[in-house]
Amino acid sequence: MRTDEAFLKLESSPRGLANEEAKKRIEMYGPNQLEEKNRVTPFKVFIRQLANVIVWVLAAAAIIALVADEVINFWAIIGIILFVILMGFLQEYRAEKAMEALKKFVQPIIRVRREGTLKEIPSKDVVPGDILVLESGDMIPADALVIEMIGLRVEEAALTGESVPVNKEKDEMIFAGTQIVHGKCSALVVSTGMKTKLGEIAGLVQQEEETTPLQEKITKLARTLAAIALIASLVTLVTGLFKGAPVTDMLLIAIALAVAAVPEGLPLTMTITLANGMRHMAQHNAIVRKMLGVETLGSTTVICTDKTGTLTRNEMTVRKIVLPGSELDVTGMGYEPKGELLNGNTPVDIENEKGLEMLLRAGALCNNAALEELNKEWKGIGDPTEIALLVAAAKTGIWKRKLDDEMPRLQEVIFTSERKMMSTLHTIKEQKMTFTKGAPEMVLERCTRIYDPSGVRALTEHDREEMLEKNHELAQKTYRVLALAYRPLSEKGDELEKDMIFLGLVAMLDPPREEAKKAIETCHRAGIKVVMITGDNQETAKAIAMEIGLSDGIVPLDSITDGKIRRILEDGAITGSELDELNDEEFSSVVENVRIYARARPEQKLRIVKALQDRGHVVAMTGDGVNDAPALRKADIGIAMGIKGTDVSREASVMVLQDDNFATIVEAVKMGRGIYSNIEKFTTYLVSRNFTEMMLIIIT
Ligand code: ADP
Ligand code: MG
Repeated sequence: MRTDEAFLKLESSPRGLANEEAKKRIEMYGPNQLEEKNRVTPFKVFIRQLANVIVWVLAAAAIIALVADEVINFWAIIGIILFVILMGFLQEYRAEKAMEALKKFVQPIIRVRREGTLKEIPSKDVVPGDILVLESGDMIPADALVIEMIGLRVEEAALTGESVPVNKEKDEMIFAGTQIVHGKCSALVVSTGMKTKLGEIAGLVQQEEETTPLQEKITKLARTLAAIALIASLVTLVTGLFKGAPVTDMLLIAIALAVAAVPEGLPLTMTITLANGMRHMAQHNAIVRKMLGVETLGSTTVICTDKTGTLTRNEMTVRKIVLPGSELDVTGMGYEPKGELLNGNTPVDIENEKGLEMLLRAGALCNNAALEELNKEWKGIGDPTEIALLVAAAKTGIWKRKLDDEMPRLQEVIFTSERKMMSTLHTIKEQKMTFTKGAPEMVLERCTRIYDPSGVRALTEHDREEMLEKNHELAQKTYRVLALAYRPLSEKGDELEKDMIFLGLVAMLDPPREEAKKAIETCHRAGIKVVMITGDNQETAKAIAMEIGLSDGIVPLDSITDGKIRRILEDGAITGSELDELNDEEFSSVVENVRIYARARPEQKLRIVKALQDRGHVVAMTGDGVNDAPALRKADIGIAMGIKGTDVSREASVMVLQDDNFATIVEAVKMGRGIYSNIEKFTTYLVSRNFTEMMLIIIT
């Protein structure tokens, strides 16, 4: 099958396959899926029923009846055996089907280039010849050859067992089932489905059957009860025989006793309850990937949540642009590129505002999102922050597609939550130029010049303070603020993100989700603490927290005497760098009081989870990036985002939110609590019922 490689290489173009061709190929090569080796068949479920203790006990009874020549009894017992098998079969088959249906909810979506445009398709539709567009956090869907790449590192533990990521260069192979942990690439698909390296070994890897702690406990309980029942029936049998009762009668009574007392349905009822719980949660957009999750959800005491997209809608719209010397308002709603840029009440003419034009170009060029019109509706693909910049530029007639042709991109310094900025390098004719966008304090640090209406001049300390002041002011009003800068490079080729020319600030608004407020209220009433952890500015974070009522009910600081800790906690939010100042002991003493972590780095999430768990909390934690994975794994319930999350984060999580919505978490916790108490109830019921039956038989 690797002979396909050469043919594929010749045939495909950077534009990707034609849609028609892709359709043909899916017929030819089949869906990009691994065949399931361990499918449950009705027959297998049936065979499993024969392993039931009750069936054996009853079979013994049937034999005794036959030997004693009690024909009626014999047929009655055979009838009961069939009934037990049938009931068990139906129950278990239902549970298996429920589990199978759940798996269908978790269908990964990936990006490919087809007919020259970026498309999102289900991973099972990938065909040989497709061009994958992958980035940090993606699970690679098929075996492919790297065509282009930036800083590409892949973790291949799934294939090699080696968890240290390896660098991948152009023309190297990347493999299905492995994960991109850094950088990005485009790659030509060589083989799919069972033809991939993963497919070759898939047959060897057995899927483990999973049980939850509660299930284990209940199974143990059921076994203990069965043992007690058997002993009780033996005792009855022996005493009966001593008293001279007929042997066969006594045997049958003992068997009836055993059958009555064995709580055979318990573990199965439990599985069904959990599986049903999972299905129910899935219908409410919470995909629980492990049964354990249903149980743990019910006992959650703290929910640590991202802000952007989870508490807010993640529909960014640029509302203000701050240039040196002027401030503009941007009109229009959503992703539709209709609206105006107003200075006071007068529309600005972009022709006369070179600085503004440069800023909008920078925003569109230093950008990996796409904006397209589909059936009269504008749709953005990519990071909403970046889509917002494309929309703002398009409102003045600046389109990324055209710009990209004029100024092809040569290189990208990728955005990471640690750096909080990103840059790209472009050529225009002979000139090379870089564009940068990111958190204002980060970008300003790298600027030495400023684009003033009168021309480029040195950036003064005064300019810097003025811009940071503006940033602060906007952030307080819940705006997300990004700074933009550029730099023409000299022939020699300079360092990319240094000595830049500051262009201005853009302020975008991401309204809070309406449901969030109510969900937080529900949490507070149920005694669940909600904590916000965000990479965003502390003022934006606090303002959003205020709007959704997250800061309500924070413990006053009176009890804290330590000056340093007081200072850090005073303004209601703690920043990533303030957290660094606290040692573990200090942090542990205040962790209960903190509701907002701003400008936090992903690795700090892990520290927060640990500190909370040390204080006895059951922690649910959301995350979306590759770097969130350790914290997601450590948390009692790791929660990944279905829409904006990366595959890596989903893999590390117990639960996936299909709608990225905070309210969905709270809904799932509520259901988890309900299920937990149901299990408790029916366990008590079944156990007590079995014992009553047993006592009745013994007495009679
Ligand atoms: P969050 O999504 O919780 O706000 P992030 O770590 O994604 O946190 O972002 C941190 C900061 O990095 C943002 O406040 C913003 O200033 C900046 N930023 C976010 N996305 C981008 C991007 N695509 N390019 C450049 N800078 C960005
Ligand atoms: Mg983000």
